[in-house]
Amino acid sequence: MKPAIVSRLPDVGTTIFTVMTQKAEQYGALNLAQGFPDFPLPQGLAEALARHVEAGHNQYAPMAGLPRLRECVAVDLERHFGCRVDPLTEVTVVPGATEAIFCAIMASVGPGDEVILFDPSYDSYEPSVRLAGARAVRIALSQPDFTIDWQRVQEAIGPRTRLVVINSPHNPSGSVLSRADLDRLGELAERHGFLVLSDEVYAHLVYDGTRHHSVLAHPVLAPRSFAVFSFGKTYHATGWKTGYCVAPPELSTELRRVHQFVTFTGVTPIQHALADFMQSDPAHVDALGAFYQARRDLFCAALAGSRWRLRPSAGTYFQLLDYAEISDADDIAMAEELVSRHGIAAIPVSVFHETPPARGLLRFCFAKQEHTLLRAAEVLCAI
Ligand code: PMP
Ligand code: GLN
Repeated sequence: MKPAIVSRLPDVGTTIFTVMTQKAEQYGALNLAQGFPDFPLPQGLAEALARHVEAGHNQYAPMAGLPRLRECVAVDLERHFGCRVDPLTEVTVVPGATEAIFCAIMASVGPGDEVILFDPSYDSYEPSVRLAGARAVRIALSQPDFTIDWQRVQEAIGPRTRLVVINSPHNPSGSVLSRADLDRLGELAERHGFLVLSDEVYAHLVYDGTRHHSVLAHPVLAPRSFAVFSFGKTYHATGWKTGYCVAPPELSTELRRVHQFVTFTGVTPIQHALADFMQSDPAHVDALGAFYQARRDLFCAALAGSRWRLRPSAGTYFQLLDYAEISDADDIAMAEELVSRHGIAAIPVSVFHETPPARGLLRFCFAKQEHTLLRAAEVLCAI
């Protein structure tokens, strides 16, 4: 008799990022769907990796990450966001923010617990909540600016609310939470006693003078939050799958209890290379906002006069486009047509929602070389 597999996630298909990248390859399309840069690593980072592989740094790193990299992280957090953290007890290096999100959720919720998510929300959150045995309570962000309606949050909080997941700068909309938003969340967290998971992977990608507010710099939120970051976004190295989670010692201890049995540790020479680069080239991060803002502006300016309507993007490397003047198709059909007929891959935003929104939107990644963006805009303008 064959053993039966009872799926833990029977309704979950392949992630949209894989689906759209496969379609981009199938149709030979420009891939503005999955979020990754099409330009090289910053100068010096690849050599640093080669150097450490060559030097024999190829065995297990400590479970919580290389101490020297965790120190660099602490310096970066203080310098850019005014957060003071202890690298030893509060910083854990992980193989990608996705792993940290999973571990933080597994470490903090269980059967019967409720976790508040905001729609559209990154696609790994809800499956992680369900694998932990908890239930996701999804609240739609207010349109058209993708802001949080705190009255609705207050109404959704119940006795089983254990965790609230926020994401700023926000994927896919590019909206950014204000200090006042964090204050409201802090008031609710204090009153109702829940934890916070703050996905800040795009922390360094903010534009037009917008500031990123980290929960780690907030006096009420810092003691009750996991904050998750990704080196992949900051160092143009999504394929290196390396990030970190910062949380107070009690929460970091719980996170590490899970992390040590999910992956144990991250890739050693990558951690060395990142530490070298962070020490030798701190200016890379300082220039990142202007670097990506120029790409966003190039893409948006090239769409002027087209039938695509731009939504504001204050952070991340994503731009939402509204195609209501072009078609009344749903966004999945629109994305399919765009990739198969016009050779541009984009992400349909409805996949990040529990209930698809009334208005179809497509997400375009502008972490691309100028000629890629200009070529994509030329095609989009002709539609
Ligand atoms: N959270 C958000 C909001 C993201 O966009 C991503 C992007 N990839 C991740 C988490 C995961 O990051 P990583 O590739 O480091 O796992
Ligand atoms: N975070 C990236 C995006 O939003 C993709 C990550 C992935 O492919 N898993 O496009």
